[in-house]
Amino acid sequence: MTTTPNSPGPVIRLRAVTKTYRMGKDNIVQALRGADLDVHPGEFVALMGPSGSGKSTMMNVLGCLDVPDSGSYILAGQQVRQLNDDQLAAIRNKHIGFVFQTFNLLPRLNAIENVELPLVYGGGGNRADRAKRALAAVGLGERMHHKPNELSGGQQQRVAIARALLNDPSIILADEPTGNLDSRSSAEILAIFQRLNDEGKTVVMVTHEPDVAEHCKRIVRMRDGLVSGDELVPQPRRAEDELRKAGTAQSVDLHTGAVPHIPVAAR
Ligand code: ADP
Ligand code: MG
Repeated sequence: MTTTPNSPGPVIRLRAVTKTYRMGKDNIVQALRGADLDVHPGEFVALMGPSGSGKSTMMNVLGCLDVPDSGSYILAGQQVRQLNDDQLAAIRNKHIGFVFQTFNLLPRLNAIENVELPLVYGGGGNRADRAKRALAAVGLGERMHHKPNELSGGQQQRVAIARALLNDPSIILADEPTGNLDSRSSAEILAIFQRLNDEGKTVVMVTHEPDVAEHCKRIVRMRDGLVSGDELVPQPRRAEDELRKAGTAQSVDLHTGAVPHIPVAAR
């Protein structure tokens, strides 16, 4: 990674991180085998790699949802291992917004209620107002009172992004956020992430779609629990341009000069 001499250090620094899952006595899976990763403020990283290579485990560690067995994770200058529960909650609130493939919305709550959920146990001010602003920012101002089953997949993911943005985190972590979406919705989600990144947020996004990864500034590859490749994307594609070109068409051609109408999420 190139950094200017005066740039702050990485906001994420993983060193030799291991994580083993034990399922029963004889079944041991080494999900991470000593992974290293630096991410600097303002980066937009695609995390790629075959299924089972440790991407989600890595994301869970980055989001402080899971604790490594060994190695070091320094988040925003703080050694995560040394934090107590309150400090961990505080650093997570301040820095991390997490977005999942399956949206993880509560079905009985409408969009506003889902978005304001992280504030229920903290954060003063008018929760509903903040939630409404977050929803407007992802283009869902009109559907704030809808429940998840009254929204498309892409709209549900935008609710989830609004929820992740509520505390104005510096880092967005997204684990296959377009994995369940058609090409147009995927492009809309990518356009939102690119805008957030333009505004200075750091984004790390898992995807196994090369076309999706080409919208990021850097591609990190994983294999067998290790980082196996790391490259810069010279000219990331712009989802907004692709959406504009597609107009109102259902399908956005996310594939460079390729066959149209293939959903990004086809699998
Ligand atoms: P990816 O996201 O790249 O598909 P994961 O990080 O989910 O990979 O998984 C890495 C390996 O760890 C896989 O072999 C998976 O089966 C295993 N694994 C992940 N989470 C668990 C868990 N909670 N319990 C047991 N094994 C797990
Ligand atoms: Mg995964």
